[in-house]
Parts: sequence; structure tokens; C-alpha cells
Amino acid sequence: MPADASYVTATLTDLVRTKSINPAFADGEASDERAIATRAGWMMRALGMEVTEYEPEPGRVSVVGRLRGTGGGKSLMLYGHIDTVGVTAMPDPFGASIRDGKLYGRGAYDMKCGVAACFGAVKTLLDAGTSLRGDVLIACAADEEVASIGMAEILRHVRADAAIVTEPTELRVCLAHRGFSWIEVETLGIAAHGSRFDLGVDANMRMGRFLARLDKLEQELRTRPRHTLVGPPSLHAAVLKGGTGTSTYADHCRLEIERRTVPGETEEQVLAEIRTITDALAAEDPTFKAMVRAMLTRGSFEVRRDAAIVHAVLGASTAVLGAQPEIIGEPYWMDAALLSDVGIDTVVIGAVGAGAHALEEWVSLDSVVKLADILARATAEFCA
Ligand SMILES: [Zn+2]
Repeated sequence: MPADASYVTATLTDLVRTKSINPAFADGEASDERAIATRAGWMMRALGMEVTEYEPEPGRVSVVGRLRGTGGGKSLMLYGHIDTVGVTAMPDPFGASIRDGKLYGRGAYDMKCGVAACFGAVKTLLDAGTSLRGDVLIACAADEEVASIGMAEILRHVRADAAIVTEPTELRVCLAHRGFSWIEVETLGIAAHGSRFDLGVDANMRMGRFLARLDKLEQELRTRPRHTLVGPPSLHAAVLKGGTGTSTYADHCRLEIERRTVPGETEEQVLAEIRTITDALAAEDPTFKAMVRAMLTRGSFEVRRDAAIVHAVLGASTAVLGAQPEIIGEPYWMDAALLSDVGIDTVVIGAVGAGAHALEEWVSLDSVVKLADILARATAEFCA
């Protein structure tokens, strides 16, 4: 039984018309996820689901619906985030207008389409009268675009045997993504009048030495054995600031590095690579002094190919799409890592579209209906 296209379209329209800009992107305007979580809760109740809200900070509401199984089966969490980035200069961000089979608006693609497909999947199972032993959950998470406080809070209270994250993948099956570490490096000098080379120690020049070695490391990273799905690790010198005035020796220079990690790499390993450089420079010149510190790390994600949820999603995708879907890794970080960190086998599959975080954002409605169908079939197999 295929998914109900008019229900999926109406649900997505409703979600896109409900403003849910993450406060970090709201340009000082009042905005949060309360309104959209309330709407999602109504949709869950209409499908007969038990509804629980989680609000770790005022207004930052996530909501989880649970359709109880008959007992004894495995539980599956269907996941989507309900926050969006900002809408500055975007024409008609909440219009949800439809042209040529595409629905336009902020969050249409990233990723209210996935949320609508999760609802469409549960509706499909109910319409078909499918009896499941395991529970089916829909998790609508706040704050994915910034700090993932929504998913972190959900996972303090809720567990499932597996999860499907519906971030957009063009209907390809994503089994891994990269993580990242933000690392601060600070070189220390001695401030002195610009004429006093005999007193000053130039922190900016010392950062220059560090950057030359970091550039070599960056090139070396890409010669390492590639991860089959996400490719090589990488890094970039993202933010650089040093010095106080033209006639003063810079007493410190601060660099923020973003290091993108592949499955298997740890924060300790990437910090050690950086410290190897600063230690070597200090051994060459005792006036070279630097501090290295991890600012934030988000882990990478990878699921075993033989996990039951992988089998279920590949089978469902092949049945709906008429061919085995492409298996991919994504270069960017997702909440999938938080799920896998607590031991929940997770697969990512989402709709077709374009314009995440861009001025024009759209999703293919046909792909959202297909996604709902895939989710329903995968759920029917996994929770049977
Ligand atoms: Zn997203």
C-alpha cells in the first residue's frame, strides 16, 4: 500500500508554514521550536500515538510520539529535526507554495520533508492495518542546527533498538558521516616597542612557522587510506587573530582549526597530531611557545553493514525505487552520531531537493511520498 500523498503534502505544508527558526539564526527576533513541537504533537495524537515533550531550555521543545506495538518486537525511532536556519533575504520563506512538483520554503528540504515522511509512514501502516509487535517512535528534535540540545535531551529519556534519520540524501542510503574537532592553538610572544627587536618575541611569526607545518599535515591527511564511504580526513585554518598594533611586537596569536574526522579517529589522536608540530617547533627554537586545546568535538558515525536496520532500509528502498539504492557517506555532521554514540543502530535516508541554508529551498514532493513508503516498509520489517 503506497503512502497517502495528499496527507504527506498537507503535513509538510503545515510544518513549513509553522515558523521554527533556531534562535541562533533569528537575528534577535523571538523564535523557538515551541509552536512546531505543539503542531507535531497534535499530528502524533491524531495518529493515536502517545506524546511526550522535552524542554531542556524554555521554548526549546522537542516532541516524541510512540505508537505502541502488541509487545515482544523491536522498537524503531524515526527521526527529524524541527528547527531551521534563518530566513534573511529569502522570498516567501513560509509560503509552502508548490510549483512543478516542488514545495518551496525554509525547512522544506532541511528537513521538514523528513518529518512529514515519518508521519506519512505511520499513517501508511495504520491505513494498511499493519499489526506490529515493536513500538514505532517519531522523534522531532529541536536545535539540530546549532548544539543538538533537543536530541541530547531526548536520548536522556528515550531508547529504541534502531533509528532512521531522515536528513535529505536524495533517496540514497547513508551509512556513515564525518565528525569534527575544533582546536585552538595559541602562540605566545613578548610584547615590546616595534624598535626593540632585542626585547620583542613575535608571536605572529611563530604562528607562521606553525601554519607552514599545518599546511603539510593538511596535504598529508588526504594521502592517508580513504574511508570507503566518507573519504579522507581534512582540516582548515578557520580563524586567525594576532597582534595589537603596528608598532608593537605581537605577544600572542590565536588560531582556530577545524579538523574533520573520519570513523575511527578520536579527539586524542587529532590533538596529538597538532602537538607533534608544536613540540617539534619548540625543540628547534626555545622561544617558540604554544598552547593547544580542544574546543568542541562531535564524533563521526558509521553503522555495521549487517545491522538489521540496514537490511530493512535497503530492502524497502529497493522495493520502492525499483533498484538497489546507492550507498553513501555524508561529509557533514548529523544527530545520527548522537544515536550511534548510545548504541542505537542508525541509517540515514531522506528526500530529493536543494537549497539547505540557501535563499531558495525546495523539496521534490514525489520523493517525500516515496520516502514515507520506504520508512513504512522498513518499519513493518524491523518492528514485525
Ligand atoms: Zn538538517
